[in-house]
Amino acid sequence: MVEILKTPLRKIYYSMPASGVLMLHHAVSSADFVIRCGLDTDRFEDLVNEYGGHFTTLEDVVRHGRKKALAITFDDGHKDQYSVAYPYLRERGIPFTVFTTLDFLDTPRFMTTRQLLEMANDPLVSIQSHGISHRLPDEMKPGEIKRELRASKERLEDLTGKKVSFFAYPSGRYNKEYLDSVLEEYDCAFAASGGVLNFWSGRNRKLLPRLGVDNKSYEYAMKTIGRII
Ligand SMILES: [Zn+2]
Repeated sequence: MVEILKTPLRKIYYSMPASGVLMLHHAVSSADFVIRCGLDTDRFEDLVNEYGGHFTTLEDVVRHGRKKALAITFDDGHKDQYSVAYPYLRERGIPFTVFTTLDFLDTPRFMTTRQLLEMANDPLVSIQSHGISHRLPDEMKPGEIKRELRASKERLEDLTGKKVSFFAYPSGRYNKEYLDSVLEEYDCAFAASGGVLNFWSGRNRKLLPRLGVDNKSYEYAMKTIGRII
């Protein structure tokens, strides 16, 4: 019975106008990096070239509700986001967002503060918050999550001189304190899963879906993007 229902429901779900917030961590699968969520550079470039005309800003998708559109987001601030993805996207005029973890800046494998600021000054790049410490909710004392939500926003805004309105949950994990506090500081917050952004999935601004793109999820992600566009 469930199987009989699944197909029509899925059809209805995917027939709604939708957009996609893509979650990437890398644009390389190099042994130079300790890679989880690696994405071969060839695949990254194929994705960009295949859907070049559909990429827009995260603001455009979330605030203006643009449909049949894709927004690229990177998490953590890995080095190759600056050295590999940025030049490629800049050359093609494609906007993207970096959800930055402040404690990772200027450490091995991650971008430097100078590199982050160079991108922050480019109108194509939006720097948004991925917290300070990237700890999981159960590693934090009561009250710490609320303080990190505020402090990461303030420190990033001081650093970049630009407004920070979006948050992405570190490792996609959240708890009651996150859900209770996140909209006090941010316009919306993003999960690390959940698929496409449409009328249904876009209703909860505390937990907007993203579509992960890495080597493991690549085929599924491309198929899903095909349904959006
Ligand atoms: Zn992360």
